[in-house]
Amino acid sequence: MGPQGSGKSTQADLLAKELGLPRLSTGDLCRRLREEDSELGRLVMGYYDRGALVSDKDILLILKSELRRPQYQNGFVLDGFPRNLWQVGNAPFEVDKVFYLDVSDEEGIRRNLKRRRLDDTEELLKQRLGIYHQETEPVLDFYREQGVLCEVDGERPVEVIFEDILSKIKI
Ligand code: AMP
Repeated sequence: MGPQGSGKSTQADLLAKELGLPRLSTGDLCRRLREEDSELGRLVMGYYDRGALVSDKDILLILKSELRRPQYQNGFVLDGFPRNLWQVGNAPFEVDKVFYLDVSDEEGIRRNLKRRRLDDTEELLKQRLGIYHQETEPVLDFYREQGVLCEVDGERPVEVIFEDILSKIKI
């Protein structure tokens, strides 16, 4: 977990490769669906393109249908879910560990404006950061209380952060 531009997809990718598990990104699932000429694709596009979260029920359906694929049976590295407390309560999986990449809003915005994703205009980034602080930060508190949250300083080079994450995981 982490705000926009915290490098969570990069770290999730590295960790998935290291653990030999698939990475599952709800953001990637949404981007794929958004390209589809289907009712669900148009629905996702409506949320995605204005920097809003897809509705809880829809993102849960999308995630559950992806999780039916056999490659996830032995576990997976999840990126982008849960984003609020409702999603925590309705998550269709058990959590072993949660990594939180701590990065300031300023640094996150600076990094994201360098990549060229459709939803990375400054206005939409600020919008998504606002949602992050309001809805997703309580999720961190929940996992902290559960004792599964590992906080990682995300304002360091990619390799240093990854080493830190590995040192906090028992393989
Ligand atoms: P991300 O790549 O994780 O920043 O996600 C990009 C966009 O996908 C978000 O702004 C939402 O529109 C949608 N999305 C991804 N994950 C979720 C989620 N767990 N709940 C709702 N919407 C999501």
